[in-house]
Amino acid sequence: MPIKILSNDMASKIAAGEVVERPSSVVKELVENSIDAGASIISIEIWDGGLRYIRVTDDGTGIPTDEIAIAFQRFATSKISVQTDLENIKSLGFRGEALPSIAVVSEVDLTTRDVDSISGSFVRMDGSTIVDSGPKSSPIGTSITVENIFSKVPARLKFLKTPAVEANRIQVVVRQMAMAFPGIKFTLDIEGKKNFATAGIGDLRGVCSDVYGHNVATSLIEITEEDSRDGEHKGILITGLIGPPEISRSNRSYINLIVNGRIVQSRSLSFAVEQAYHGFMKEKRHPLAIINIDVPLNELDVNVHPAKSEVRFVRESEVFSTLQKSVRNSLLKFSPLPNIHPDSMNENYSTWSGLLTRQGHSSSRRPMPIFQSQPTELFRYTPREAAASMYVIGQSQKLYIVADGPEGLFLVDQHAAHERVLYEDVN
Ligand code: ADP
Ligand code: MG
Repeated sequence: MPIKILSNDMASKIAAGEVVERPSSVVKELVENSIDAGASIISIEIWDGGLRYIRVTDDGTGIPTDEIAIAFQRFATSKISVQTDLENIKSLGFRGEALPSIAVVSEVDLTTRDVDSISGSFVRMDGSTIVDSGPKSSPIGTSITVENIFSKVPARLKFLKTPAVEANRIQVVVRQMAMAFPGIKFTLDIEGKKNFATAGIGDLRGVCSDVYGHNVATSLIEITEEDSRDGEHKGILITGLIGPPEISRSNRSYINLIVNGRIVQSRSLSFAVEQAYHGFMKEKRHPLAIINIDVPLNELDVNVHPAKSEVRFVRESEVFSTLQKSVRNSLLKFSPLPNIHPDSMNENYSTWSGLLTRQGHSSSRRPMPIFQSQPTELFRYTPREAAASMYVIGQSQKLYIVADGPEGLFLVDQHAAHERVLYEDVN
């Protein structure tokens, strides 16, 4: 679709607001444009936390020379044109606001060559005015340089943090984008040094290794769940990787939620994920997860927040429950009613975590010594089998049920057992 200015009627339907708050929002908007342009390689360079210099280069479709000027006008977009497009948004951008908003607060240079042209063009912007333009040799794709952001609006500079903090925010954005698009090769250079790079071969675990390190990446558990009632596919698809219970963090920022390719912030979805870990993870600790939630385009409203980081679902409760079920089921599968090998006691212990749990209590309270005394005997039974022939003889520290079992003494974490009973009741 050519770049056109939205009608007043359409423009009035766009969630208005400030898109460019800080350097990381510039990076996010430019990278989104590159993704929308079908790029397979996106390179980002920043200097001084992006305050002095940001460059985003892609190998996407490029912009036809005669459309460059219009791209810098408000509400100019090639991505939607009529109401039904707004209700079925496939692209990350749709508001036609990023380029003009960035241009008015900084110095922008754009070089581009579209797929149908044999040479490229450039423009240099001063605010919303083109101050220089002409032909310029360029590979197919687009490269945008944003310099001295907010130098013309010093009031905004006051709200920025140090270059190191701003650089860190940019890193977070780039890493999240890379996890949302494992098929795109991302590179981030900070102060001329390579900071981050992905292979771009579509392997989410590989990208997680680039983001969180090899050990974390190899421990992640795959999730996949479709919302199907009466066996019928309803169009909600949950996929991704979640951390095992032993990988916990002190805040929620490691729960990455990607809805139709868009990184979103959602308290309710994060809550769904955390609830699924209930009984598996200590209180006040938070899991690590990279979760893709794909829903039919017409069941998602992305036009809620100016930076497009919040979304609304038509079937919110189904999305919530499908997400929760998928995480919970994968955790249970990872920590199954076990098929246990007696040699690796510690691992086995964690696989019993649904029932004979180590969550929620300090390690000194773990009933390890008892297990260690007779591991071979114990692990002949699954908890389900063992529970059937257990005889309760008491309670210890109001935490553990003490039971006589088929081949010895059992300590059952009663809190976790209760959780498990409730869980199996509702599922
Ligand atoms: P939006 O992304 O909401 O359409 P923008 O202001 O971000 O609005 O961009 C305006 C238009 O400029 C886009 O619709 C697109 O046609 C074009 N454009 C911007 N960046 C790129 C890019 N990297 N590659 C190709 N086209 C681009
Ligand atoms: Mg855009």
